[in-house]
Amino acid sequence: MQMETSFAYIDENYKRILYEMEEAKAKYRKPDDEITFMAVTKTVAPEAVNHAIECGIRVLGENRVQEYLSKKQFYLPNAQMHFIGHLQTNKVKYIVEDMELIHSVDSVRLAAEIDKQATRIGKVQNVLVEVNVGGEASKSGVAPDALEELLLEISQMSHIHVKGLMTIPPIEGDEKFLFQMQKIYLDISSKKMDNIDMEILSMGMSGDFAAAIRYGSTMVRIGTALFGARKYV
Ligand SMILES: *Cc1c(COP(=O)(O)O)cnc(C)c1O
Repeated sequence: MQMETSFAYIDENYKRILYEMEEAKAKYRKPDDEITFMAVTKTVAPEAVNHAIECGIRVLGENRVQEYLSKKQFYLPNAQMHFIGHLQTNKVKYIVEDMELIHSVDSVRLAAEIDKQATRIGKVQNVLVEVNVGGEASKSGVAPDALEELLLEISQMSHIHVKGLMTIPPIEGDEKFLFQMQKIYLDISSKKMDNIDMEILSMGMSGDFAAAIRYGSTMVRIGTALFGARKYV
């Protein structure tokens, strides 16, 4: 098999996305707002991921524990690892050491397991709580009306620290849900809960990152627009 060695399309996509991010920021946000561009790596070959790192990407988003474990040894060392996929409690132990941030905490049970594994290795694990803003049965995430109670429970745990919220809004009516999510984020911020920070709103993917920036996103998670269509889902 011929190895793909030219990743010029990644350079072009990277520059275009950065430009569009800047455009959205200039239109809707303050000049000194920082918005992080995460590259979502699911199904993408490590060589292509490394090319994105060479372009300037500093945050990688991983969805699957198994896939991450098989690819991590090939990654360049200069990017942070974030876990963004649905996380089973029995897999937490395999990733807790490597992850700068886990975006997908949506239950006390999962938070307790992360707390336990982080305690074991002497780390405080930074996490986001995932909110199912559209109330879709097919999606993970805590319901908006159960969010505050979950945050209160996590705030009692010593080795897990909430840094913000994450969401995957429904495709239909996207902007409405982005707006709702911004309201939820600002509402929780204003409550100033002990041991809970609202510094990161992880929101926006290939199809809606400019709109997500409009509604306060601080981190966009981009796969397809950077690497091209995935071969499998
Ligand atoms: C796959 C995925 C993305 C990226 O989606 P694209 O539409 O390919 O940009 C972002 N966030 C999560 C949680 C994902 O699973």
